[in-house]
Formats: sequence, structure tokens, C-alpha cells
Amino acid sequence: MSQGTLFVVSAPSGAGKTSLVRELIESLDGIQVSVSHTTRAKRDGEVDGVNYHFTDAATFEAMIERGEFFEYAKVFDNYYGTSREAAQTVLAAGQDVILEIDWQGAQQVRAQMPDAVSIFILPPSRSELERRLASRGTDEHAIIARRMRDAISEMSHYDEYDYLVINDDFTTALQELQSLVISRRLSISLMSERHAPLLATLLSQAPGVE
Ligand code: 5GP
Repeated sequence: MSQGTLFVVSAPSGAGKTSLVRELIESLDGIQVSVSHTTRAKRDGEVDGVNYHFTDAATFEAMIERGEFFEYAKVFDNYYGTSREAAQTVLAAGQDVILEIDWQGAQQVRAQMPDAVSIFILPPSRSELERRLASRGTDEHAIIARRMRDAISEMSHYDEYDYLVINDDFTTALQELQSLVISRRLSISLMSERHAPLLATLLSQAPGVE
């Protein structure tokens, strides 16, 4: 069985990445999101093992020491990382995998897996980003300003990615993500592996074949 494709998706907070990725995996077969490890506190409604594997810093650092992370980074004072096991078990089963990670992790993935497809998602405007960041549970100016600084810092890496999606209209952005996954699946390298018997039959010069 051929390996699945690794997709890396990054975005500033407020771009709608998590909702888009959730819809993407519901709308297509054969693709899953890798569940990361993190040391940040669980938010209301989050479930251990579903949104993240929530761990303490000592456990995370021990995993770093043992080389168990495919990539990891410190983002906003907490550790986040993709375990090798999380990504590779799914890829080896022929499924595609999405890593929802920051730009630092994306750089590490590119260095190890040049065939990975990386996608950056942007909000449609500065004012819309400000509006989305302000509506996240707090009105405190300093917190919103910090989120804006973090978002700008993340967005400054957009040109390291293969593809750029602007999430103005959700349905359009979702269709764009779906087409990126589908076009990758139709690439010559993957199709010739997956359809080797068909290609062999079609190209055969054996007698009886016109
Ligand atoms: P949040 O705490 O809001 O869920 O995520 C904060 C940031 O951490 C987001 O930019 C998210 O993409 C990033 N992140 C989540 N999981 C990982 C991971 O496994 N590795 C890296 N490098 N970043 C991650």
C-alpha cells in the first residue's frame, strides 16, 4: 500500500483554521487530523486524546529527550508537538494526515519530509481578524493586543508555504482546501503507484490488444 500524504496547515488564531480542517476531514474519505501533545491547560469543552494529548512539561521534555517528536515547538509559552507515532501510524496505513501546527513546526516537517504539502490560511482583512480575535471570550485590551501581535508574527511566515487560502467565504475556502487534497491525490507519482495494474494493462503491446 502506498503512503498517504502529509498536509501541514498553519494560520494565525482567528483565521478559522480549526473549523475548516474539521469540515475538510468530514467531507473527504481517507484523511485524518493528527492529535498533538501540548502542555497548555485544557479549555472548556476540550477532550483529552481528541483535541490534544494534554501532558505536563516534565512528560513533554522526557518525550523530547527520547526523540519521540516528529516536530515540536514552544508556542505562546507552552510546548506543542506531533509525536512520530501519531503521524506515521496513519500515513503507513495509506491515509492522508493533516498537521495543524505553527510555522516553527512546519519548518521542521519540510526539512524532514520535502513531499509534505503545506498550506497557510489567512483571514480576509485586518479588521475582520481584529473582530474575530476580540470576540474570543475577553474584552481586555492588552490580551487582544497580544493576540494581534502573535497573529502578525505567525502570518509573516506565509510565504514559506506551498499554498495560500484566504478564508473570506467559508464554503469557498473549504472547496479550495478540498481541491488541494484532491489534486495531490491525482498527481502522477501517486496515481502511477496506486493504479499500476491498470497502467500496465493499458500500455501493454500484447497480441489481441488494439
Ligand atoms: P491552541 O492553543 O490555540 O490550540 O494552538 C496554539 C498554536 O499552536 C496554533 O498556532 C497551533 O497551530 C499550534 N500547534 C498546535 N499543535 C501543534 C503541534 O503539534 N506542533 C506545533 N509546532 N504547533 C502546534
